[in-house]
Amino acid sequence: GKKMANSKFEYVKQFEQPDQLLPNTWIVVRIDGRGFTKFSTKYAFEKPNDKRALDLMNAAARAVVTELPDITIAYGISDEYSFVFHKTSKLFERRASKLVTTIVSTFTAYYVHLWSKYFVDTPLSPPLPSFDGRAVCYPSVQNLRDYMSWRQVDCHINNLYNTTFWALIQLGGIDATEAEKSLKGTYAADKNEILFSKFNINYNNEPEIYKKGSVVFRDYELVEPGTHDVVQEIEHTAEPAQQSKTQTEKDKRKWAKARVLVEHLDIIKDDFWDRRPWLLS
Ligand code: ATP
Ligand code: ATP
Ligand code: MG
Ligand code: MG
Ligand code: MG
Ligand code: MG
Ligand code: MG
Repeated sequence: GKKMANSKFEYVKQFEQPDQLLPNTWIVVRIDGRGFTKFSTKYAFEKPNDKRALDLMNAAARAVVTELPDITIAYGISDEYSFVFHKTSKLFERRASKLVTTIVSTFTAYYVHLWSKYFVDTPLSPPLPSFDGRAVCYPSVQNLRDYMSWRQVDCHINNLYNTTFWALIQLGGIDATEAEKSLKGTYAADKNEILFSKFNINYNNEPEIYKKGSVVFRDYELVEPGTHDVVQEIEHTAEPAQQSKTQTEKDKRKWAKARVLVEHLDIIKDDFWDRRPWLLS
């Protein structure tokens, strides 16, 4: 800063370590609620899925994506959210600490700000919710797609387990230890079978938000199935490489104006990405 300039103290600035992330890679910032097992007990989250808590996570994530146009997509499950920065992003000169702390504090601020909208008549009290965060670079679209798939598979595995676990307790009347024991070593098909034969629950009919998690992205220009090859490439950061200045400015305005959606879709298969080519182009 200016006050440090030319003072004998200025040398301390040299102790700062560079933390610029690799250029031209997809930056994923994943945040996770601190001690949410305890937090969810304190506020009596419904098990296995409290809809209010998920809606609050999604509202906070939507606010983050809206405030940071360099984020191309975000994906959330449970108490975690992954935010993907476009590979061309130059935000904070790609400094990891700046990116992570800005996401974490913006998200946390909105989580607290929006709390009362989702938990009506349940005021927050210390210890207040907090989140950790990390940044990871993915060098290829395939790596990024695999990252997103990894999180959604995790959502599926956890939700199938938790749905069966809590059905055994809430509907089957057994305790947590017994429920854990009866699920040990079971496969997905076994859990589906337990749900159906014991409790007449068809897992396929469970709400999409629980089975698929939540995807946050800009509603830009949906492509009809099978026509994605005719779509024009979009540069949404300040890099007028192939395009004229006016075209880029027009795209940037369109990008800034696009609504930020929260949906519960399959992001493992190609279809989601094929129909929204602006997300990865
Ligand atoms: P950046 O996002 O890069 O940090 P910035 O605008 O926050 O940009 P800083 O170098 O962090 O820039 O400076 C903080 C600014 O906030 C200064 O302009 C400072 O005067 C102002 N500011 C901070 N706290 C106070 C305060 N208590 N009273 C008046 N001004 C303040
Ligand atoms: P850490 O600080 O290491 O992350 P944690 O207790 O937050 O510890 P996680 O692995 O992040 O551990 O697990 C999140 C916890 O929050 C789980 O116990 C999960 O059941 C609970 N939880 C999060 N969201 C919901 C929700 N919408 N409904 C019910 N429970 C939830
Ligand atoms: Mg500042
Ligand atoms: Mg400052
Ligand atoms: Mg954790
Ligand atoms: Mg956690
Ligand atoms: Mg978690």
